[in-house]
Amino acid sequence: MNALPAVEVSQTPEEKFREYLASRSRTQRYTAQQRDMVKYIFSKHNHFDADELIDEMKRERLRVSRPTVYRTLKKLVDAGLLRRINLGSRTVYEHDYGYAQHDHLHCEQCGDMLEFHDPKLEQMINDVCRQNHFQYAGHALIIRGVCARCNRARVMKHRLDLV
Ligand SMILES: [Zn+2]
Ligand SMILES: [Zn+2]
Repeated sequence: MNALPAVEVSQTPEEKFREYLASRSRTQRYTAQQRDMVKYIFSKHNHFDADELIDEMKRERLRVSRPTVYRTLKKLVDAGLLRRINLGSRTVYEHDYGYAQHDHLHCEQCGDMLEFHDPKLEQMINDVCRQNHFQYAGHALIIRGVCARCNRARVMKHRLDLV
C-alpha cells in the first residue's frame, strides 16, 4: 500500500483517546488491553478489519479479547481516531487522526487499498456543497476495480494461455 505523509497533531492518539474516555464518564477506565490496542493500531498506517487486527495482535503476543476489540474499535471511531470504511462485504478501519484526507482505489482482486489525494476533487466537492447550501461533514469515495499488478498478472496469464 502507498502511504500518504502524516499530518502533525498536537496530541498523541493515546492522549486523545484518554481524553475521549474521560469526557464520556468517570467510570470509563483506560485498560491495559485498550492501551496495547491503540499503540498497535497507531504503530503503522493500513486498512484492516477486526479479524485481521485480532490475528495480528495474537501474532505479536498481545492479549486482547474479541469483545474488547469490537468495543474499542467503535470507541476509536467515535473519538475521531479511526475512520470506518464500508467495502460491501467487509468493514475496514484506518487512521483518521494525524493522517491526510484522502480517497481510495479498491482492488477487487487482491483487496489492496490505494490511497490518493487530489485537490481538484476537493474543490469539486466544495463547489457542489456550496451550490446546494450543504454543510460539509465528510465524504467517502471508493473507486472499485483492478490494480495495475493484478491487471499485469491477468495479461501475462492470457499470453501464456495463447502459447
Ligand atoms: Zn490487485
Ligand atoms: Zn486510506
